[in-house]
Amino acid sequence: MTPVDRAADLRQTLARARHDGGRIGFVPTMGALHAGHARLIARARDECDTVVVSLFVNPLQFDRTDDLERYPRTLEADTALCSSLGTDVLFVPAAGEMYPAEPLCRIDVGRLGAHLCGARRPGHFGGVALVVMKLFQMVGPDRAYFGEKDAQQLAIIRRLVRDFDVPVEVVGVPTVREADGLALSSRNRRLSADERERAPALHRALLEAARLIDAGQTDAGAIVAEARAEVPEDGDLRVEYLEIVDPDELQPVQRITGPVLVAGALWVGHTRLIDNLSCTPPAARP
Ligand code: AMP
Repeated sequence: MTPVDRAADLRQTLARARHDGGRIGFVPTMGALHAGHARLIARARDECDTVVVSLFVNPLQFDRTDDLERYPRTLEADTALCSSLGTDVLFVPAAGEMYPAEPLCRIDVGRLGAHLCGARRPGHFGGVALVVMKLFQMVGPDRAYFGEKDAQQLAIIRRLVRDFDVPVEVVGVPTVREADGLALSSRNRRLSADERERAPALHRALLEAARLIDAGQTDAGAIVAEARAEVPEDGDLRVEYLEIVDPDELQPVQRITGPVLVAGALWVGHTRLIDNLSCTPPAARP
């Protein structure tokens, strides 16, 4: 595995791989890797000739400085994991390498950022879109792998690629979960033992919504109200949002007649967790 911290070296290394005609697979991450990231890397390894993983905690996508400062960083373990999974190139740029000057040209993700996390984290998805666009320019991948856990991010990247004609195939990878349903996340490391025990409440709420949709209920407001009741809210557990939106444009749905995304964010103490499920009502199934 070749570790690289300069974009120029990355381009040079990949120019050789590209010249050999192989397919380049890319997995962008913020590090603190877990089995969810590993799934993305393994999929890239299966499908591509050269696998590039990036580790970069992108300051532009953090709307809170405390969250940026507290974001877990585990470079040594990440390097070992990437190597064990057969990563060819590990790109770990410093902030000054990614942003030698403050970027003046920004990306507005429009209505795709109007709901769910986008409504609560101003500037977040603009920051995500910008860094992913820059990484795409640096890596020039044939395929790029993103987790369905971050469904709004995935929808935005799909649209970004379409809107800017980026010649990359975006691959969505199903969410990897703990046995009790909690979606794996770098932020799970911050949970105390007690918080960890309570954290699956979000997944339970999503499952309840999915069950109601499955049973033929179509009133999104009523479904959300019932699903929220699954979370015993108190000082430590607080639902930030639970919403039902259409899966492409991520706009709120009132009556469920086709496939939807049920997504939520839960504060567990000082840690914010997100999760989602895709559901298709019985009436819309083939
Ligand atoms: P992050 O390091 O949190 O920016 O995540 C990097 C990539 O890993 C993103 O595409 C995430 O959607 C994906 N990812 C994070 N957690 C999971 C998970 N539990 N299952 C599958 N993919 C995930």
